[in-house]
Amino acid sequence: MKNQSKKLEQEFELIVNLSEKNCKKPIYVKCMKKNLLINFKMKNKYIYYLFRDSDGAEINAYTYGDYNVQKLDKIIQSDGVYIIFKYKVKPKVHPTIINGNYSLVLNSYTKIEKMPPDSVFNKIHFHFLSIDDLFFFKEGCIIDTCGVIYDEGEPRIYNMKDGQKFMRNVLIADSSKKKMMITLYEPHSKDTRLKIYKGEILAVKYGKIGITDTKIKKLNTTNYTILQNSTGNYNQDLLLKEFYEKNQNLNNFLFIFHREDYKFLKDINQIRQYNIEHNITKYKLTFITKACIQNISLDEDSMYKGCPLCSKKLIKSDDNGYECVPCNKKCTEPKYLFKLNLKVRDTTNSVAYFRILGIKATQLLEVEPDLVKKYLEDKKYKELDEIAKKVLFKDYIFTATLSVFGKDKNGKILHSINVNNIEKADGENLKRILKFIHNDDDE
Ligand SMILES: [Zn+2]
Repeated sequence: MKNQSKKLEQEFELIVNLSEKNCKKPIYVKCMKKNLLINFKMKNKYIYYLFRDSDGAEINAYTYGDYNVQKLDKIIQSDGVYIIFKYKVKPKVHPTIINGNYSLVLNSYTKIEKMPPDSVFNKIHFHFLSIDDLFFFKEGCIIDTCGVIYDEGEPRIYNMKDGQKFMRNVLIADSSKKKMMITLYEPHSKDTRLKIYKGEILAVKYGKIGITDTKIKKLNTTNYTILQNSTGNYNQDLLLKEFYEKNQNLNNFLFIFHREDYKFLKDINQIRQYNIEHNITKYKLTFITKACIQNISLDEDSMYKGCPLCSKKLIKSDDNGYECVPCNKKCTEPKYLFKLNLKVRDTTNSVAYFRILGIKATQLLEVEPDLVKKYLEDKKYKELDEIAKKVLFKDYIFTATLSVFGKDKNGKILHSINVNNIEKADGENLKRILKFIHNDDDE
């Protein structure tokens, strides 16, 4: 099995590695979904596909134009396995978390080889997130989740350009004891194969996160959404059914509130682990956590030359001076700014490295970068130690953003954590914030 996937990796490009430049090797994929669409205004036909590779990654693909549509419509079918040669990769206008930043374009140069059905594709399960986890995602994100239907909702009418349509709001809940409204638009609201009854499982693939007027997170279906009455995993289905048997009262569950500032407290390790488990290779997550600074180093590497106007990093100009790209200005007197790496430990003993830049770092250390620069030049290490000691082994409330930006060659997730805000963990107000967030987590 391992050998096989090694071999696949060499011959074929994996979906996670695809980019505008990285699109020369063929891809080996299963067609998970196919949609023929006609744009009546433009008199254009399109086919949209969803492809999955042996790694479980998925990508949207499309083709257009009478010739291409006619040719490919005959060749590529749902559930078929194909090798695709000579395709193009285009960045998406609206990138999504789960199915990526790029789309494939199939054109008249594209060649397709049909392959026998391959079990490797069927072993992959969807990474259904618990409803609780949807708290981590912003409006517009595309995610997969599942739960049990607690309220079937009434069919309602909504108006579209091409007439009146039906929608319904279904309520689901799961073992995280959170509930969520899912708005089914057409065609899902009219899908007669789907069982929308109390106690039925509803698995949502490619649901789109929305927010209600009352600031509650919800899910919307789109043309790409797939709804099923099973997760495709026997044990997961069983757990959901058991949960429903034991927990009949929907009033015991909470909705997930949308918080404008996206602040919440989770332990650092859990946040990092989350990406790895869900195989999500590109996304940003802002969180709040209480953590203690374990180490801080003040050396040449903890400073950078910044623009006195905007604090952005300066680049060397042709005449050996400096210039600021955002300000489009030459800079004769660069300002020294901090870029610190903090080793922190949170209340669950998880350790992480946080990066803190510019004015926020100055606020933390309560000294100007110029002074630190001078101490460094004069080799006044004792003074530098004194500055560091003031913040070491003290608790702070950090608001920080975790950015996951891909995988390295060994499949290790690459990420950075940048601090947006830092406050001393004292004062009645902060205690109240922490208590509020802790209660939220502990229930
Ligand atoms: Zn500037």
